[in-house]
Amino acid sequence: MKQHSGQNLYLRRIIGTVHEQNAFLVADLWSRMAVVIDPGPGTFDRIHALIQDMSLELNYILLTHEHYDHMGDVEPTRKFYPSCKVVASTATSECLQDPKRNLSAFHSGSNFSTGPADIQFDEDEMSLPWSGHVIRLNRTQGHSPGSICIAIAGVLFTGDTMINGTRTVIKLPGGSRNELIASLDWLFGNHPPATQIQPGHGAPFFLRETSKEIHCSLKTCASQEILRESALNKSQI
Ligand SMILES: [Zn+2]
Repeated sequence: MKQHSGQNLYLRRIIGTVHEQNAFLVADLWSRMAVVIDPGPGTFDRIHALIQDMSLELNYILLTHEHYDHMGDVEPTRKFYPSCKVVASTATSECLQDPKRNLSAFHSGSNFSTGPADIQFDEDEMSLPWSGHVIRLNRTQGHSPGSICIAIAGVLFTGDTMINGTRTVIKLPGGSRNELIASLDWLFGNHPPATQIQPGHGAPFFLRETSKEIHCSLKTCASQEILRESALNKSQI
C-alpha cells in the first residue's frame, strides 16, 4: 500500500441532539476512505451529507462504548452503508441489541438498538488496518464495561472515559472506580502529554491539560478503600 502523510486526514466533530454528544468523521483525503466514531442520535443526516459531498467511502463505524447517546444512529448508518463494518468491544456489542442495556429505555424518548458489531474484541487491545494507517482500540473500562479508547494518527478518542475538566461518570450500570483508575493509569502512562484528546462530550484538549485526579480523585479512592476495609473488619467481628 502506498504510504502517505497523516496530514491528509480530515477530522470533523458532529454534535448530537442528545446530551450534546460528539460524533466524529475521520477521512483520508488521499484514498477517500472514511470512518465514523460514535454516531449518536441526530447525527446521521449530517454524517451522510459529509460523506456524499466529499465522495467518501465509509469503511467502519467505531464505538467507544454502549450508551445510547453514542450509538443511537448506528442503525440508519449501517442500513445506508451496508458494506461498512461496526467495530466495538464484545461488551458493547451485546448492549447495542438491548435498549435496557444501552440505557435508551430509561433515559431517552426512543428505544435504540441495532444488531451485534461485525468486528468484536474482548482482549485489552486490537489493531485495525485502515487506509495505510493502524487504528488502535484499547479497553478502558470504568465508565462502562464496554468502554474503549480509539487512537487514529496520534489523536485519541476517549468517549466518556475522559471528558475535559470533569470527573468521569462511574455511577451507571457496570461502572467501576477501580477499573477507571487502571484505565487512567494506562492512558497517562502510554501517551505523550502532547496527545490530542477528542472526548465523547465537549471540546478537544491535550493530555497535558488534565490529570488523573480531575477524572477520578485518587485520594478519595484510597480513603474510601480504607473505610470499606475497616467496615468489613467491623462486620467480621
Ligand atoms: Zn456513556
